[in-house]
Parts: sequence; structure tokens; C-alpha cells
Amino acid sequence: MRLHNMQIHSALSQCASDEMTMERIIREAEKAGLETIGISDHIDYLDPSREQKLLENFSIRDKLCPPINVQIGCEASQIDQCTIAVDIETAQQLDFVLVASNHYHLSHVENPIDRSPSAYAQHHLQMIEGAIDWGYTTIIPHPFLLTKVRNVNHSAVLASYDRHQLKRVLSKAAKNQVAFELNPRHLKNSPNFFKELINLGQQVGLKFALGTDAHKPHEIKYDQIDLQTLNQIGVRQEHLLAI
Ligand SMILES: [Zn+2]
Ligand SMILES: [Zn+2]
Repeated sequence: MRLHNMQIHSALSQCASDEMTMERIIREAEKAGLETIGISDHIDYLDPSREQKLLENFSIRDKLCPPINVQIGCEASQIDQCTIAVDIETAQQLDFVLVASNHYHLSHVENPIDRSPSAYAQHHLQMIEGAIDWGYTTIIPHPFLLTKVRNVNHSAVLASYDRHQLKRVLSKAAKNQVAFELNPRHLKNSPNFFKELINLGQQVGLKFALGTDAHKPHEIKYDQIDLQTLNQIGVRQEHLLAI
């Protein structure tokens, strides 16, 4: 399988290590045999100066003349169904845009009033649909898992997604060329849900993008366990976004 990693945070993301310079990221990715990588620094609030800073990644990349395909994007938080934390003009300049529809741990992101598993499942599906309707989303990162939400039963959330609604949203994503991320480190805890997701995705022509949400140099590569996980879930080249 030709590998890519579309969720890599550079040192421009506060949560990433200082070692995550563009140069180091490219070196690690090349060493790991990745053909394409995506630099996806966080944008959590509408902030023109932040967007400007991220756009500077283009000239940093170009100066390095990387031997692999390095795409410049962002991971924008979705605040509510209709609000994404990045300006449309900036989104159009970027190579790709990850829209995080489940950054529920951020205090300015709308949470469901009733914080039950089924309310979260319904809310997250609505958020994803909003991200698709927005029109500039390339990939939904870490979909369906609400790992950072405390006091909620995560397997109950996965079980609560209305399968009819889920299939409708996946089909809409496919029509609008929005892909869903598969992070092997997340998949391995809920293999059955993700097997089902890939199956449903295949039925409607949905594409998936691989990502590890790397914040440190050693997190950029896929190790043996990651590759085994992808294999066990049934991920094949034909399911992946052609980047
Ligand atoms: Zn995220
Ligand atoms: Zn991330």
C-alpha cells in the first residue's frame, strides 16, 4: 500500500514538539517511506494572523525542495454546525483542509445540551454534515470517536450512530468529495465499528485518508502494529484518497 500521512502538526501547533520543524518532518517522512504528507496545524478560532502564519508554511516548504509530496493544510475546529474556524479565502489557498467536527473539549465548541452518548452521536453527525455543506472540507479527522470528551461511554457513542443517518451522511460526503480519516492508533480500539464504516464507505464510494495526528517526530511513521491494524480492518489502496 502506498502510504500517506495527512495529519502532521508542525511546531506551529502549540501541542506539537519543538522538534517538529518542516525540515525534520520531511526527513522523518522520507525515512518512513511516505509518498505524501500533509502539514495540518491547528486553527481553533477565526484569526487572520494565525491563518497568515500557516500560509507561510508554503514558502518554508518550497525553499526545502522536498523529495516527497508535502501538502500544506490546516486542522480547523468546527465551532457549531455552520461555523468553521477558518476563513473561506484561506481555505481556498491551502492544499487541503481538515475540519475537526468533534473538538468538543474546546470550551467554545458547541456540545449537545443532553450529554448522553446518543445526543453526542446525533450532534456529531450533524456537525459532519455541516462540514460537508461548508464546501471546503477535504478530510474529517478522527471521525466518530470522541476521545477527548470525558464522562461519556465511548463504545455507547459508537453504538448510538443511527445507521440510516450514518449511511446518508457518508453518501453525501462521497458526492462532495470529502474523505474520512483513518488513524490506525484509533482504529485498533474499535475494530468492528471501523470495519463497518469501511464497508458502508465502499457501498457509497467514500474515500478515506490515513493520518496519525503526529505531534512528535517518531509519530510520523506507521509501525508494524499500525500496518497490521489497517490490514485487519480491511483497508486497501482502493479505499484511499488519491493524493
Ligand atoms: Zn483534532
Ligand atoms: Zn490533530
